[in-house]
Amino acid sequence: MKRVVIVGAGHGGCSLASALRASGYDGEISLISDEADYPYHRPPLSKAFMSGDGSAQSEQKLLLEPESFYVEQRIDLRRNTRVRAINAPADSVILSSGDILQYDHLVLATGARARTLPIRGSELLGIEVLRSLKDARRIRRSLENSQSMVVVGGGFIGLELAATARQLGKQVTVLETAARIMERAVAPAVSEFVTRRHRDKGIAIELNACVTAFAGRDGHVTAVQGEAGEWAADLVIVGAGAIPNCELAEAAGIVCANGIVVDGQLRTSVANIFAIGDCAAYENAFAGNQRLRLESIQNANDQARVVAQVLTGNAEARFHAVPWFWSDQGEIKLQMVGLPFGSNACVVRGDPAQGRFSVFRYRDDTLVAVESINQPLEHILSRKLIASGLSPAKALLTDTMVDLKSLLN
Ligand code: FAD
Repeated sequence: MKRVVIVGAGHGGCSLASALRASGYDGEISLISDEADYPYHRPPLSKAFMSGDGSAQSEQKLLLEPESFYVEQRIDLRRNTRVRAINAPADSVILSSGDILQYDHLVLATGARARTLPIRGSELLGIEVLRSLKDARRIRRSLENSQSMVVVGGGFIGLELAATARQLGKQVTVLETAARIMERAVAPAVSEFVTRRHRDKGIAIELNACVTAFAGRDGHVTAVQGEAGEWAADLVIVGAGAIPNCELAEAAGIVCANGIVVDGQLRTSVANIFAIGDCAAYENAFAGNQRLRLESIQNANDQARVVAQVLTGNAEARFHAVPWFWSDQGEIKLQMVGLPFGSNACVVRGDPAQGRFSVFRYRDDTLVAVESINQPLEHILSRKLIASGLSPAKALLTDTMVDLKSLLN
């Protein structure tokens, strides 16, 4: 009997287990998770779950699959179990329980962890990061009694949490070191629009704000200190990006470089070991073949599907899915497709003042990415444009009388 061992039961690991069965894989599947919870959706943690009542029903809604799924599909899900080491020459992993598990194929879906700030006071209570359901439960409880929340970092997760907390009536400040929020991911027009909307809702957003220390009393945070001032806080969320979990691979001698390096089939430098999702670094055709990691649900799920194909005998399967991502921040629905690498021109379609528009980003005359605000249909059509490698003339896009669909022909 053959066995696939999957390390990590997040979006990538869980999708792979289910895609393997859907592709007819009949061998054993071991899905190893160091979390106590059944596999769950992470995106709602900063959104619906955070503003919900925290009840058992609200947690049930988060589940990726019903609890019965794993037994029905003969998936040996081991929760609260960490893979401590990989013995690649012996095709085995060592679990935190001390058990040794043999595999024919090993898939690393270890994800990423939230970056913390190595600055004075970071050990104080009330300073949180959000990655897991366990983190979310703790933050939800703290938020109930919070008077002043400070979010360090104006990236997606920080802004989503800020918007949710503001909807709950909390006083919220976002501190961003860069000159604009979401700087690496979106065009200036999108940063400006989102900043304005959040400020209109009462969120204080401080740009060029470099945080230097946390101050506290009786072991609990009371303020965030920066070069330009101090902000009172009884709850601090550090949203400073994520670090890939690749130590397990590194220790086993697998090649890593800001992520576990994989080829077009998601295969690592060891032939029967694969890596998918946030932890995997690969040469991305949508970024001029630069090697990078993407942290998105689409990326984890699509990579899982490719590995399922490879492991069920499709030697031709390759990963080249169009990257797309979304971020819901209060009433703002931001959707992105493509990667803005080397982008040097932007075309705005629609009127930001109306709260609905898209920014088409070009590298010279090549369309490389599209960011849509409250324009889900334009996002879907943009996915088709990017997938087809089409680059409409810029003048056609600014004319909203020109139907995007007509540009697909
Ligand atoms: P994960 O889902 O992180 O799963 C990895 C799992 O592996 C974890 O459970 C980890 O604990 C476990 N693990 C690690 N090491 C070991 C080990 N040695 N042994 C056993 N288990 C191990 N993406 C979007 O596209 N849209 C969104 O709106 C969005 N919102 C988000 C909101 C939040 C709050 C967060 C945290 C993320 C969000 N993301 C969003 C990103 C998305 O959740 C990730 O890209 C996705 O979860 C990646 O899946 P993954 O399987 O690679 O990693």
